[in-house]
Amino acid sequence: MTHGIHHVTAISGPARRNVEFYLDTLGLRLVKKTVNFDDPGTYHLYYGDEAGQPGSILTFFPWEHVAPGRLGVGETQETTFRVPAGSIGYWTQRLVEKGVKHSTPVRRFGETVLAFTDPDGMRLALVGVPGADAEPAWSVGDIPAEHAIRGFHGVSLLVKETAPTGAILTDVLGFTEAGTEGAYVRFRSGAPMGGFVDLRVAGDFLRGRQGGGSVHHVAFRAADDAAEAEMVRKLQENHGIRTTEQKDRNYFRSVYFREPNGVLFEIATDIPGFAVDEPAATLGEALKLPSFLEGRRAEIERVLPELT
Ligand code: ZN
Repeated sequence: MTHGIHHVTAISGPARRNVEFYLDTLGLRLVKKTVNFDDPGTYHLYYGDEAGQPGSILTFFPWEHVAPGRLGVGETQETTFRVPAGSIGYWTQRLVEKGVKHSTPVRRFGETVLAFTDPDGMRLALVGVPGADAEPAWSVGDIPAEHAIRGFHGVSLLVKETAPTGAILTDVLGFTEAGTEGAYVRFRSGAPMGGFVDLRVAGDFLRGRQGGGSVHHVAFRAADDAAEAEMVRKLQENHGIRTTEQKDRNYFRSVYFREPNGVLFEIATDIPGFAVDEPAATLGEALKLPSFLEGRRAEIERVLPELT
């Protein structure tokens, strides 16, 4: 069974600006255009690799007039993507050309990390991964396939103390502790994409305030319903943590819980995936609605903002 990050969901400002950045600047694929099932007047946009594989999916709830978030303890500090180790120079130049705010690349756990922010101030980074150039990649626009993003590297979480979150990662979510560097403790799952969670110790730093640029939650992979149920059982029996009941998100089935440092975690099944309601070749082109909202399609389409 493959463990690791399934998807990361964040909050953004205007949808159109979000689409422009993730498609045009970063070269991701829009793999699903749907609405927030709990608030169908707003989009839920999913970006990923060509097939929309678990471990490549970054999703957004865009709000036209969102207040900016403030990063703090109990939140995701940074979301990182994999690129070939030799592509960091290409990306540094691209971020300069596109006017994207970024930092000088640094070394972390032996890898080169190029940190930058999206238009809402969401903290992102590209991590140079040796051997990633041999993996297939989705090429779009003017980004050559050889330099394209290959899914997530991972996330770093800002925590008060690492041990309680580490226990959930290792006992329930399929990760193992993989080293310490400075304020970071690294956990790895071995998955090719989305295989890393770094815990950054922040002590008594302020708690975060969710808003534009904030990560709302991090979802971890379960192969199917049985695997998810087993993880739910372990959370309750070994850690005293109760999850929500399972929710059908159309493309995966999920439970949610707050890990001990306050970060909202989800466990999402790999099945059925994004090709369940439209052909793989045209993922993301049409507005897809769950069956319980189909009857309100005309009304929903009228209030959603234009994306292009
Ligand atoms: Zn989610």
